[in-house]
Amino acid sequence: MFGKYISHSSRLLNRVLPHHCPICDCETSHYGLCAACWSGLSFITAPICLRCGRPVFGTAGTDLCVPCLQDPPLLQTQRALLRYDEGSKALILPFKHASRLDLTPLLAQMMLARFQELVSDEHLIIPVPLHITRRLYRSYNQSAELARHLCTLSDRRGQFDPLMCYRRKATRPLGKHNAKVRAKILKGAFAIRPKRLSKLKGRKILIIDDVRTTGYTTTEMARTLLQAGATQVDSLTLARIL
Ligand SMILES: [Zn+2]
Ligand SMILES: [Zn+2]
Repeated sequence: MFGKYISHSSRLLNRVLPHHCPICDCETSHYGLCAACWSGLSFITAPICLRCGRPVFGTAGTDLCVPCLQDPPLLQTQRALLRYDEGSKALILPFKHASRLDLTPLLAQMMLARFQELVSDEHLIIPVPLHITRRLYRSYNQSAELARHLCTLSDRRGQFDPLMCYRRKATRPLGKHNAKVRAKILKGAFAIRPKRLSKLKGRKILIIDDVRTTGYTTTEMARTLLQAGATQVDSLTLARIL
């Protein structure tokens, strides 16, 4: 009886209170992005490399890209929803830097199908951690918020462990540096909390991240997790630079 009343009330509210697009603030008839902002997003779709998730063209009899064939990454399966470009920046930058946590349910809903393709009952689901100084400055970890919502939406809250992995070093942006310098900056950047080690052993890990730039961060995280006893590390990212 109450369910009927609530559903009637929410239909009424929808009519009284118009929805607004969270990017451009135009009035919409539905929850979520307006058609113009939606069409500005570039979704990463097949054909992709089954390992690193990069779009591939003319795969010549293999499902892997050339770099993955030559030097397989530590991460088993990497997937991303969007290209990181002007269209997705309009959605992601406010979420990441301007405390727009109200965008989390929408972003998690958009990522949900990819998440469900990757996740299994054997996975523990963890976010890319922020260093404590950045966490205090920003007051939230956007990747942890995405992971928490994805676990709630898929009824996997028992598999969510936001505290398993932490950052020991506050690393500076890696963009300008070459591979050797990046590796040096990130070496030892992550650690596993000692009390979590027994829980981690023999498990698969799914890392949730907001933006993948070089991939070095999740690779270093995967190295730490595998050395500590994880059997496989996968990642799902909201957007990646291509
Ligand atoms: Zn819009
Ligand atoms: Zn690949």
